[in-house]
Amino acid sequence: MVNQKMKQLGQNRSVIRDIFEYGRRRKEQIGEENVFDFSLGNPSVPAPEILTQTLERLIKDTPPQLLHAYTSAAGDDGVRRAVAEYLNNTYDAGVSPDYIYMTCGAAASLTISLTALTEPGDEAAVFAPFFPEYRVFAEQAGAKLKVIPSRKGDFQADADEIEKGITPATKCLIINSPNNPTGAVLTDESIQTIAHILTAKQQQYGHPIYLISDEPYRELVYGTEAPYLTKYYDNTIVCYSFSKSLSLPGERIGYVLVSPKAQSCSDIFDAVCGAGRALGFVCAPALFQYAVKECLGQTADLSVYDANRTLLYGALTDYGFECVKPDGAFYLFMKSPEPDAVRFCQRAKKYELLLVPADSFGCEGYVRISYCVQTDRIKAALPQFKRLAEDYGLKQPD
Ligand code: PLP
Repeated sequence: MVNQKMKQLGQNRSVIRDIFEYGRRRKEQIGEENVFDFSLGNPSVPAPEILTQTLERLIKDTPPQLLHAYTSAAGDDGVRRAVAEYLNNTYDAGVSPDYIYMTCGAAASLTISLTALTEPGDEAAVFAPFFPEYRVFAEQAGAKLKVIPSRKGDFQADADEIEKGITPATKCLIINSPNNPTGAVLTDESIQTIAHILTAKQQQYGHPIYLISDEPYRELVYGTEAPYLTKYYDNTIVCYSFSKSLSLPGERIGYVLVSPKAQSCSDIFDAVCGAGRALGFVCAPALFQYAVKECLGQTADLSVYDANRTLLYGALTDYGFECVKPDGAFYLFMKSPEPDAVRFCQRAKKYELLLVPADSFGCEGYVRISYCVQTDRIKAALPQFKRLAEDYGLKQPD
């Protein structure tokens, strides 16, 4: 017999993957150009030229005994130093290379952090809507995912809900800003609210409550900034990834960072190293550690996402759909015109529009539209969205 929980995880694909697979089959049937797939969060812009050039140079110039070799488990010392220096110069983050652990992307950062922090029975709290994999990451560590609703309408922190949701069993709170799936960016005020409540709860319960900041979309912001969490709350752990900023999700590179001001910081860092070891990560890909070191502060051309956001938000609201205007990431969160978002997504398929119901993100009645696609695909999809709006009798432009 195999581990039943793992078997179940392997068999039950995520809703997003199911829709993506449906899209693949449908494209074979009616042609790629006739299917409008807004299901996946795969960056649509190429990695920046500087990354390609850096890789070429590294392959040519790095001594063979280093190029494809293991690094230290926590990562190459020079890379960790460069990351810390970049964060301190850019955000005044107050971080130390000693507490940076290079990982295979945000998914690994989160799994490692949750495994490092929690004991079976502990609660890992999260604001809904949330990235569905959090449940998998928390549960594999033996923790229970505790869902706390965010504020209706703008998806900022809801003080009353946080007060209710943080219990004596809460070990950590995961936040994700810019957010998948809403595109919301937590404001300074929201973060202060979170920090204030967590500080009070720590005192009340007599143990630390860590804030895990999952930030693969940090650089994908439009006319705003994502505040740096270590400046607001000492017990912070940052889970970062280069997947989206440098458009290299398949290369698996990111880091976990424990704030030097966190309580038991060095114990947590040891536990992070232990979790990485127990989960079999060994070390993050060496070539990409060296590559991101040279590309800190660089991004792919993210302006396409902003253009897509403006185009899609403008058109869909014109057609009468109710959408949350995203300030970051590359997702548009749209209210389903009928209460059952799964049924709405089924109906959207009639128009060859592949949208993701937000039920699995812990938020019913909404859909997620990933606009990390070619702008031409959005333009081509707009008449279909218009027909879908008409199908529901939504308001039409004057
Ligand atoms: N966290 C969120 C909110 C995400 O949307 C994703 C990927 O889409 C991840 C984590 C995982 O990112 P990575 O590719 O760096 O593992």
